[in-house]
Amino acid sequence: MSTKLKQDIKENMDVLERTQYVIENALEKLRTKEGMYDLLKEPLRLMTVRIPVKMDNGEVKVFTGYRAQHNDAVGPTKGGIRFHPDVTEDELKALSLWMSIKCGITNLPYGGGKGGIQCDPRKMSFGELERLSRGYVRAISQIVGPTKDIPAPDVYTNSQIMAWMMDEYSRLREFDSPGFITGKPMALGGSQGRESSTGLGVTMVTKQAAKLKNIPIEGARVIIQGFGNAGSFLAEFLHDSGAQIVGVSDALGALYDPNGLDVNYLLDNRDSFGSVTHLFTNRLTNGELLLKECDILIPAAIENQITEKNAGDIKAKIVVEAANGPTTSRATQILTDKNVLLVPDVLASAGDVVVSYFEWVQNNQGYYWSEEDVKAKLEAILTEAFINVYQTSIEKGVDMRLAAYIVGLKRLSSAVEWRGWV
Ligand code: GLU
Repeated sequence: MSTKLKQDIKENMDVLERTQYVIENALEKLRTKEGMYDLLKEPLRLMTVRIPVKMDNGEVKVFTGYRAQHNDAVGPTKGGIRFHPDVTEDELKALSLWMSIKCGITNLPYGGGKGGIQCDPRKMSFGELERLSRGYVRAISQIVGPTKDIPAPDVYTNSQIMAWMMDEYSRLREFDSPGFITGKPMALGGSQGRESSTGLGVTMVTKQAAKLKNIPIEGARVIIQGFGNAGSFLAEFLHDSGAQIVGVSDALGALYDPNGLDVNYLLDNRDSFGSVTHLFTNRLTNGELLLKECDILIPAAIENQITEKNAGDIKAKIVVEAANGPTTSRATQILTDKNVLLVPDVLASAGDVVVSYFEWVQNNQGYYWSEEDVKAKLEAILTEAFINVYQTSIEKGVDMRLAAYIVGLKRLSSAVEWRGWV
């Protein structure tokens, strides 16, 4: 491989370019064969489908959906399906690449996949959502399946949607296929611990990071940006572990109290969108919260929150990316230079796909595990992943994000070579 990278780092790279940039760097460090980057910079397959749905008012509306399959050299592809008005082809491509990295870091026998439908589920009835979910499965049925590509929940999709999709797939194939999709309700073969798995996984890696930085989790001051599924479970788990949650935020604003917020009050009083800050008058902005005193900062909301403009002023000693892409490339450099330990998104948020893997294994075995079993197995995998990434960052002298990509691409690139694809 040439020593000159094809792209230079730029602050305003879009999510796909940014991911490709890190992949190219990681492959360079792995000294993979010529052609590897060209193969891995885009998904192997991207299917676009048009899904006609009879709406409640009798009209037919046609929705656009996608399924991206990054690479299946290691095994079937795996990744969520999101329902969102802003879903785009490029975003799904990048997200499928990320899933390959997440599966590689945690050593799951999968490549990455990701799907999405351009729609606004908040404006659709239950019946319309069911017909859309079933229509999507019919449209992509040829390229998915328990040994090909296994979907899961993602933004604005949930266990009910997984249940409809599983039922539709089973009807098409004429046999019960719980292993076709994960994140199902317990009654249909879901796994213990799947719903809280993102928050649980972030909590586990946060504890590892704190240990490394000699910060006792008991009494550690934590700021969590975002109070949705990941953020609220995180606040609960870290609070239960003795940490002090000094700041939280939602889309409307932020709360900060150096003596610790009343987490139970926030959990009990949040609304169905996870909003809590409207309950208080002394609010800060999301931007102000990021710069407050704390030991651990966990962005668990949206992308591009830590940029070259604010990274230098961050007080935390550890940043754990529970959201996708909250830190830009330059901000990653600034934090690393300040000796802040950054736990990258592809590692921090891998808990959900690990428990999805457990769900698929349980479906294939027809034997179901206890919650304790699931948690212990998850902790073992994430601890090993964390240590691998950290050691790689030290050995290769690179930041934690690049180290995560190096670990994440090692098995995949090796599988590609063994198969003779490059
Ligand atoms: N929302 C997760 C993702 O796509 C789900 C992955 C899975 O459970 O397979 O990143």
